[in-house]
Parts: sequence; structure tokens; C-alpha cells
Amino acid sequence: MREFHRATGWHIDADRRVLRVDWEDGAATEYGFEELRRACPCAMCAGEGGFRGTMSAATPLSDKQTTLESVQPVGRYGLAPLWGDGHSTGIYTFKMLRTRAGLSP
Ligand SMILES: [Zn+2]
Repeated sequence: MREFHRATGWHIDADRRVLRVDWEDGAATEYGFEELRRACPCAMCAGEGGFRGTMSAATPLSDKQTTLESVQPVGRYGLAPLWGDGHSTGIYTFKMLRTRAGLSP
């Protein structure tokens, strides 16, 4: 299996509505709450198999849905955000977060 970079820390900036992630190679990346919620990779939002998923670029989102309450680490490979509406099933892998920010996984 290919080695990938891991996050060493993360910080929720509620004022700027961004999640900051620090990486073991010294890089730091930021993700806007709404951008992050729209990218939710869970089966309900992103779809799975023949199911299309409920989230698209045009899906209206409430303040609760785009408010990041907390972030839990998942194993040693990703992060699971808890959103203001209680949604927490999306696991954002480190690989996905790095790639999204234009960095090598
Ligand atoms: Zn989701």
C-alpha cells in the first residue's frame, strides 16, 4: 500500500468558518465549511451504487448543515466532522483532503 501523509492536528475556526488541517510534512490547508459539507463522501450525500446521492453543487444548505461543530479522527487515515444538523457519517480521508487542497496525498 502506498504511504500517504497524515494530519497532525486540526482546528475549527468558527469566525472564518474554515477547518484548518496541519500535516506531518509541515503543510497546512484550509477548507471552507460549506465547501467541505458539499464534498461529504458518505453514501447518503455522495451516493453509492445506483443511488445518486442527495448533495449537489446546487443543493440548498442551511446554516446548521454548514456549521462544523467538531471533528473526530477516524483510525489513522481520516477525519469525521460533526455538523450542526447532527450529520456525522462522512469520513474525509487524509488522501482526499490533501488532494482537494492540491497537495500530493
Ligand atoms: Zn454526508
